[in-house]
Amino acid sequence: MFRAFIGFWVLWCTVFCMPSLTHAQSSDSELGCSKGYKQFLPSSHAKTTIASPLEDDYNVTHLWFRLQLSDTSALISGSVTTTAAVVAVSMNTYVFELDDTLVIDSVLVNGVSLSVVTEGQIRQVLLPSALPRNSVFRAQVFYHGYPRNALLINTPGLHNDTVTHTTFTFVEPYFAHMWWPCKQSLRDKIDSMRMYITVPASVKAGSNGLLKQIVPLTAGFERYEWQSNYPIDYYLISAAVSRYDEYSYYMHFDGSTDSMQIVNYISADTPLNITRLKPWLDSTQLVINYLSSLFGRYPFWQEKYGHCYTPSGINMEHQTMTSTRFSRFTVLVHEVAHHWFGNLVTCGTWKDIWLNEGFATYAQYLCYAQFDGAAKAHQYLQSIQRNVVSANWGSVYAHDTTNDSRLFDGRLSYNKAAAVIHMLRFMVNDDDRFFAMLRTYLYQYQWGNATTEEFKQVAERETGLSLGTFFNEWIYNDGHPIIDTRWNQAGDRLFLQITNVPAAPQSVAVYHLTLPVKVFSAYADTTLFLSLDSKEHQFTINWQHQVDSIVIDPDSWILCQKTALSPQDNTVNFLPQEFDVFPNPTLGTLHVAYKFITTPQLSIYNSAGALVLQQSVLGNSGIVTVNLSTLPKGLYICRLSDNGNVKYSATFSKM
Ligand SMILES: [Zn+2]
Repeated sequence: MFRAFIGFWVLWCTVFCMPSLTHAQSSDSELGCSKGYKQFLPSSHAKTTIASPLEDDYNVTHLWFRLQLSDTSALISGSVTTTAAVVAVSMNTYVFELDDTLVIDSVLVNGVSLSVVTEGQIRQVLLPSALPRNSVFRAQVFYHGYPRNALLINTPGLHNDTVTHTTFTFVEPYFAHMWWPCKQSLRDKIDSMRMYITVPASVKAGSNGLLKQIVPLTAGFERYEWQSNYPIDYYLISAAVSRYDEYSYYMHFDGSTDSMQIVNYISADTPLNITRLKPWLDSTQLVINYLSSLFGRYPFWQEKYGHCYTPSGINMEHQTMTSTRFSRFTVLVHEVAHHWFGNLVTCGTWKDIWLNEGFATYAQYLCYAQFDGAAKAHQYLQSIQRNVVSANWGSVYAHDTTNDSRLFDGRLSYNKAAAVIHMLRFMVNDDDRFFAMLRTYLYQYQWGNATTEEFKQVAERETGLSLGTFFNEWIYNDGHPIIDTRWNQAGDRLFLQITNVPAAPQSVAVYHLTLPVKVFSAYADTTLFLSLDSKEHQFTINWQHQVDSIVIDPDSWILCQKTALSPQDNTVNFLPQEFDVFPNPTLGTLHVAYKFITTPQLSIYNSAGALVLQQSVLGNSGIVTVNLSTLPKGLYICRLSDNGNVKYSATFSKM
């Protein structure tokens, strides 16, 4: 899911900006937002799992929707037939969810009409006799009504937009009951479904799977018959009705003769039109092929990929038929990517929503890198990281699933998750292995669900890394490190003083990470990889060349807040002694390191005891460089005095 955020987003493009695959446009508005549609919801809607445990008495195998919809009203009527198998020892009550604003006309279970007891959204049908385990039953619910919040198009449910004359659905995470009689269990994927929608002949109806046929009916109506044979989660089922124009084509998979239809339904009642969107729509095949090269063949390739225009700011990865208002191409990339991360493998619980959203967001970065170049991708990555470190609270893992706005918090479930995935890739340090690990994860949990721990197990097994600390610090807990670096150079020694302080110390005491530090010099640029495992670090590195500057993490691998790097800092000196002269012997340049001297004065004497050079130096601690080029070869004495009293003395030779 990708939301456009009301009141936070400027209407970013009044004229459509075409992508530069062709897509070129983006803005900070790609960042997620903590304010979304959920703010409109009463907290009583929040739930973490199915509304009644009795729903887990059965396993849904097939759904058959037979609905009447129109483009001018959210009024719905028809029936949904649920085919299911009993998984409890026995089942004496058939329980499902349907919002109580919708009226149930009748319920048939195995052809027998039965009465319904309603408690809010929970509907209970007492069966005439208990069904034993493994028995298959069919429950057909006839209903009609005007759905709750039908005109609030940025809230979940079934809506009608009176401007674009579009009727559409959106229910993630747990609002399918707003438009159909359902069991809302992430773990109970529906094995196959049929979506039959009767509409006026002037409009089209889009949904999941393949359009098997359009059946002409009497009195100016048609029936769109969609069918899908891929497992589908309840929140990925959709219907969209509007005066759509259609632009469809067949794409070919790279290295194969297989092809697949890409279906696009674009509302005729908007400024959008096929001509304007065609570059985006044509680019979809490139994205599918590229993501297939990374994650494995697009999972639903025997059916289709499609877009249905919907006017809401919420873009939604409805399986094989994304709902979108075509705001930005990168959002379309996000929804395509969900077909691996979210639809093929669905988060095991809503706490694991980052497995859907983090990877879809990271796919946006990957596609920027592939199609727009490294600079654009880096810019996007930095915008994500800036957003994450703009606050110090919140974990990738959604501990509180009753807080609806938390689940789809753009900073955490989307951006922080993507930034942490990027760090994991850095830790693996082998792209072939990293993407092979992702493919293994997708293969292992395909058509089902996975939790954070299950993903972690695959990642550990496939990369050989021990990731307990990594997940604890970056996935389960709040915050990020604040990294401050100071540096100095004296002769062939480079000093780096690095502090690594957690932004949320109550959550993570210290971060363990490898910090890339790029050292620039006229001779060559080199990147050091420094292992940090405490709050304070001092590194002394042998360095033969004059350092011009230092940049911390130039490729933005690490999610951290970096304080501005100061220029060379003469007070950074990790020499073990309080006084040291080096190198000895010297060819002409002598470094004198000292500590804890209030008013130092440096003097050089020759072997006869005559003063040959005197130099003032800064107080306290530091390293001073002395030019001896005018002095002849021989033995010398370096003395450092404090307030006129000689404190240190050392002999050295000049070659
Ligand atoms: Zn998403």
